[in-house]
Amino acid sequence: MKVLSLTARDAFNDNTIKVPFFSQDITNEDKKAVISALASPLLTDGPILRKFENDFRVFTGSKYTVGVSNATAALHLSLKALGIGKNDEVLIPDMTFVATASAVLLTGATPVLVDVNDDDLNISVKSIENSLTSKTKAVIPVHFAGRACNMKKIMEIARKNNLRVIEDCAHAIGAKYDGKHVGTFGDAGCFSFYPTKNITTIEGGMVITKSKTIADHIRTARNHGITKSLTQRYSHGRPWDYDVTEPGYNYRLDEIRAALGISQLKRINILNQMRSKACEYYNSKLKTVKGIKIPISDKADAYHLYVIRIKNEYGVKRDQLFEKLLKNGIRTSVHYKPLHEFTVFKKRAKIYDKLDNSKQAYKEIISLPLYTRISRDIQDKVIAAIAKQ
Ligand SMILES: *Cc1c(COP(=O)(O)O)cnc(C)c1O
Repeated sequence: MKVLSLTARDAFNDNTIKVPFFSQDITNEDKKAVISALASPLLTDGPILRKFENDFRVFTGSKYTVGVSNATAALHLSLKALGIGKNDEVLIPDMTFVATASAVLLTGATPVLVDVNDDDLNISVKSIENSLTSKTKAVIPVHFAGRACNMKKIMEIARKNNLRVIEDCAHAIGAKYDGKHVGTFGDAGCFSFYPTKNITTIEGGMVITKSKTIADHIRTARNHGITKSLTQRYSHGRPWDYDVTEPGYNYRLDEIRAALGISQLKRINILNQMRSKACEYYNSKLKTVKGIKIPISDKADAYHLYVIRIKNEYGVKRDQLFEKLLKNGIRTSVHYKPLHEFTVFKKRAKIYDKLDNSKQAYKEIISLPLYTRISRDIQDKVIAAIAKQ
């Protein structure tokens, strides 16, 4: 059973890793939940998923929730449910994961890359205003690193300009804005349960929405466009008695992943506390290092990433620091290489405003190892490697 005892070193084929960039938090409870879900008679799109959706609905305080295969599917179906497509423009931050933009392209619409704030790397309200055209139909704010965007201003602009709002909450499970969970402000909120995210179902995603129409549309579209769920088809006589009115997708979330999700969601507050403690510790030690700018944060944040900025006074450039940490066996990363740097978006995205903050950030940002069970010892190693030049 060697495969079951793979370490990060084996998985990345790298025996120099001493400090991984991330590590999942899977307990024996989680494992038991997964094993028992294998006995579910449906295995996919059944009662365990219904429970996960309901738990997530209660946790986020939203009205409807629909589980899907990943957050990219969640974004794609949310845009489709809102009627976004060809000839439409959708505003997204330049500093995000490629999936935010790819989901827009999948609908036939055009992503418009918008600048971010210098301080928290969230989408800039001013740059949204500078990027509006007669074709703008929607905006996708990304709650970067688990810190909420300025939803008050964004919703104001959306109302004034008749824009739909889809919140990309992939980093932000547990993050609040004005006392309410992120994802509840716009037309839809999209969550990811990829292994690096604050809770995981391995692969998995969720849409939250206050609109029954959007929820119903996504429920149908995720399941080949079939108007009934598996449970409905098998509990009311003839299972073939269904209709399809437009082509759908297979974006379902299975029962095994849903079981893991239920189990993980029970611990979300503890998991996020562990993340925030680790970030506070980094902050307390790194704030005095010359040329290092620590991230701004708030207790309402979900602490998904710990991103510092390497300023000129540090004396060493970001890439050199990355190399140095790697030589010490410490894995770090950059979130993100901005979208305007990618071939596909150079060809197919539009830019109407300057992207100065995003461009400057890309030269300076580095994401340090952050996960629930990171020890003080390990953090001290990272801190020492950064502090001594
Ligand atoms: C992870 C991530 C996604 C995509 O999530 P998947 O579940 O892997 O499809 C989308 N947007 C952002 C900002 C992400 O970090």
